[in-house]
This record gives sequence, structure tokens and C-alpha cells, in this order.
Amino acid sequence: MQNLSGIGMTSQRTRERLLRRLMDQGIQSIQVLEIMRSTPRHIFLDEALAHRAYEDVALPIGHNQTISQPYMVARMSEAIAKTGTMTRVLEIGTGCGYQTAVIAQLAKKVFTVERIKALSERAKKNLRALGLRNIEFRHDDGSLGWADRGPFDAIITTAAPRQVPLELPSQLADGGRLIIPIGSDDYQELKLIRREGSQFTEQILDKVRFVPLLAGLAQS
Ligand code: SAH
Repeated sequence: MQNLSGIGMTSQRTRERLLRRLMDQGIQSIQVLEIMRSTPRHIFLDEALAHRAYEDVALPIGHNQTISQPYMVARMSEAIAKTGTMTRVLEIGTGCGYQTAVIAQLAKKVFTVERIKALSERAKKNLRALGLRNIEFRHDDGSLGWADRGPFDAIITTAAPRQVPLELPSQLADGGRLIIPIGSDDYQELKLIRREGSQFTEQILDKVRFVPLLAGLAQS
């Protein structure tokens, strides 16, 4: 793991403050809290924004995309980890790789798909720098899932489609969970869908705000 030298004491304090905030907002899993504590977020940001890395907000990462809010990363990770096994996990929307880093410490193997090539490559570099090696990257349209690598114990989607893409629930293993924001720019709900045999049940967790899940590959 990277150390914080060059970021200074203020950052140590803001990191502690962030941890307290996550607990105040209801994150209970010791394992998730410990991972949030030890995973540096500033390495995922441009230098000009690194001083804001431990604020509990989404921040721009270029290409019109954002790094997720720490609370949302912790909330989704906790919801998915406490409901079943985490042997094979699919993530859709790698972005800069921050959520990937957290999931990679909860799962045996992570498969992550991103439609913007430059982001997928940046994430690969960031995660290598953290020494996380149980991750396979793919530059593709994640709304199709990753059938070759499935079925998955969990699928975590960090961009919002209008409706659940058909391919995703079908790539869940028995007992698998899909966590996904659904809706428009104005209103989205975070849904947890579980598969038991051929049955699917759905639960609404939160009102949320994610960037949209877009079809096809980006041009740049
Ligand atoms: N997981 C990131 C959040 C990234 S924002 C984090 O931890 O910070 C959501 C990402 O989803 C963006 O990078 C966006 O390019 C990507 N995305 C949007 N539609 C997609 C699609 N159809 N397939 C794969 N990635 C997609």
C-alpha cells in the first residue's frame, strides 16, 4: 500500500473523519470499514484534486465521469458482501478503479468492465500500484455482463441504466446478488436483486445518484 507522505497531516485527520462519517451513516461491517481505512483514495485522483480525496463526495476523473462517493462504495460493498459468497465478482463501470480496489479486498477474484479505454488503463495502473492482482480488466460495454467469466456470486454496477439489463441477472450464480442503480438523471434507486434457483427477488436500498450507464464503446 502507498503511504501518505507528501499529503501531510491534514489528510490523516480527514481520513479519520471520513471513517467516523461512514460509521455515523450506518456502515457496520468491520471488514469494510478496515478496507475503507487502508485504501488510499488520493492515488485515484489528479494531483489538483488529491487534497479533497477524503471528503465524502464524488469528484471528477475526466471523460465526464466521477470517482464514486466513499459512502456509496462502502454501502454497496457492505450490502453485497453480507448477503453471500464473494468468490467471483463482476463490476460494471471500472472508472478510475476505486470501488474495484475495495471489492478486490473482499472477493477472491474480480472481473471489471469499462467502456472508456483510457479509464480502464488508468485503473489497471492504479490497482497494480496498490499490489492488487486478483483483478481481470476488460474494455467493453458492461451492460452485456461478461458471460465467459460467469456465473458470478455478485455483480456490482456503478453506472445507472433506465432498466436492469437483461443479461445481468442471468449471469448470477444460484445465491448470487446484483446491486445496481436504476433510473434517470433526476431519480434513481439502488436495487439489490437476489437469485435463488430460478427465482429473483428485488429490494430497494436507497435513493442514489450515479452517472448513466451508456451503450457501446466510447470513441476515445
Ligand atoms: N466505480 C467507479 C465509478 C466510476 S463512474 C469508482 O469507484 O469511482 C461509472 C463508470 O461507468 C464510468 O467510468 C463510465 O465510463 C462507466 N460506464 C458507463 N456505461 C458503461 C457501460 N455500458 N459499460 C461499462 N462501463 C460503463
